[in-house]
Amino acid sequence: MPLLPEARSAARLSHQAARRPTLPVALRLAVTGVPAAALAAHAAPALTTIRPLRLALLPRLSGVGAPGGIAVTLDDGPDPLGTPAVLNVLAELGWRVTFFLLGAQAVRYPEVARRIVQARHEIGVHGHLHRNHLARGPQALRRDLARAKTVIEAVTGVRPRWFRPPYGVLSAGTVWAARRAGLRPVLWTAWGRDWTGLPAETITATVLRTLRDGGTVLLHDSDCTSVPGSWRGTVRSIPLLAARVRAQDWQVRTLTEHLGR
Ligand SMILES: [Zn+2]
Repeated sequence: MPLLPEARSAARLSHQAARRPTLPVALRLAVTGVPAAALAAHAAPALTTIRPLRLALLPRLSGVGAPGGIAVTLDDGPDPLGTPAVLNVLAELGWRVTFFLLGAQAVRYPEVARRIVQARHEIGVHGHLHRNHLARGPQALRRDLARAKTVIEAVTGVRPRWFRPPYGVLSAGTVWAARRAGLRPVLWTAWGRDWTGLPAETITATVLRTLRDGGTVLLHDSDCTSVPGSWRGTVRSIPLLAARVRAQDWQVRTLTEHLGR
């Protein structure tokens, strides 16, 4: 599938949007009900460096787990080509990880979704459709998450408990909809920008730039929303990441092992 220019720009916009100063305000409002003015006044001076702030204020949401290991997560599958290739390399390494599935992809490729579960990996919900949550109302988000969760459970026989929004964009409506669906949102601490079709060495170097003990890695086992064939770089990057993991003597965990129940 050719990359649509608007998809690329939407992803870029959304990744920028994820760093907008309003994100933690909306989140904390949704979670705590703190008055907006008081919270904004409290948070505004420090909100320009959003990623460090997110890590500091909301480490569990960012995927910061116990020391001694990392969680690896893969978004946008199941994919008939990318997912089996990723599963093969994970099996060679003996890693168990978490796949965030799209409901629409699970409907198209149910056998691939079941292979993930049969290989004893964890599954989470990435939404039914891969749309930016900033452009959707709370009720549309509630329906999307409920549909995705129902579809993924029907296809795999496993009830997912984790949720990662498309592009990592969390609105207050996202938090509300996830809570309604009984799903726990989690983002990441390190990404490989693998959706852009980078070579494996660059993907790994990008991950390692921000990966620390206890971190969570974001990669993609599908190119359904990104550069065609981008998963090939991802597959080749995983053994390179494994070399660092071995050097650090880190465990590789599912999100439930990493963050607990
Ligand atoms: Zn995605």
